[in-house]
Amino acid sequence: MSELPKRRFPLPLDKLGSQPARPARELLRPQRPLHQAAQDAARLSAPSGLGLDSAGVRLRMVQRLQREGLKDERVLQALASVPRHEFVDSALAIQAYEDTSLPIGHGQTISKPSVVGRMIELLMAGATARSAGQLGRVLEIGTGCGYQAAVLAALSRQVVSIERLRPLHDKAQGHLQGLGLLRQIRLIYGDGRLGHAGAGPYDAIIAAAGGEDLPEPWLAQLAPGGRLVAPMQAPGGRGQVLVVVDHVVEAGASRLVRTVHEPVLFVPLKSGVM
Ligand code: SAH
Repeated sequence: MSELPKRRFPLPLDKLGSQPARPARELLRPQRPLHQAAQDAARLSAPSGLGLDSAGVRLRMVQRLQREGLKDERVLQALASVPRHEFVDSALAIQAYEDTSLPIGHGQTISKPSVVGRMIELLMAGATARSAGQLGRVLEIGTGCGYQAAVLAALSRQVVSIERLRPLHDKAQGHLQGLGLLRQIRLIYGDGRLGHAGAGPYDAIIAAAGGEDLPEPWLAQLAPGGRLVAPMQAPGGRGQVLVVVDHVVEAGASRLVRTVHEPVLFVPLKSGVM
């Protein structure tokens, strides 16, 4: 048996000089510093969260949304607090603070910040949210990458979010865990058309996918004083509209009041899981 040459570790410095530099993985990912800066910003920033660089990028996005008509300060602040680029592939991070939807895989997209803002603003104007100053217990249908769940978490006591595509459910889990939000957000893999009665009733229900009508379990799981916001096929079947349902209680009697808002375009609400 021949003896192997003895090698000393660490190698003496003069042995290292001629070695080709190892390709630095970090250099191939120009968005990485932004990524880190936002993590630092989330950890270090004062409650306004606006002092550091990436927080500044978020603030500019929020100022644009404000100019375009988003009014609720609390919603604007919540949008300013969530590092959206953490929820998309690193190659798309550079576009994360534009008001655009971006692919998140499996044929789905992260919702546009303006749409997230608009829907949550509508939720904040519901009866319970108006009196409590926050959303209370929230049900989200269509977790996707988890972005909207993170924004909701900034304005509520608890968020239960359901996703029917396993890989996206797992992806959201990773994103939200990375931001330390999984104590406040409960992720469920399942068919969101059934809602999640076990953790209900909910003060706020929000859907990121639209069907022909509002599934009955959503209405049944809406707490008195609660408000639901969801896309739905427009009456008459042409396109989609945003629908608001309030669970109104007056003189001891309870009823659901539906109002129809602007046209929207969401992915279809599908049945079953994959
Ligand atoms: N809120 C998400 C948007 C995701 S897009 C975000 O911030 O990124 C809408 C999501 O709804 C998709 O991930 C889609 O898979 C999901 N979806 C569609 N039908 C569903 C259903 N019946 N139950 C749960 N999720 C559903």
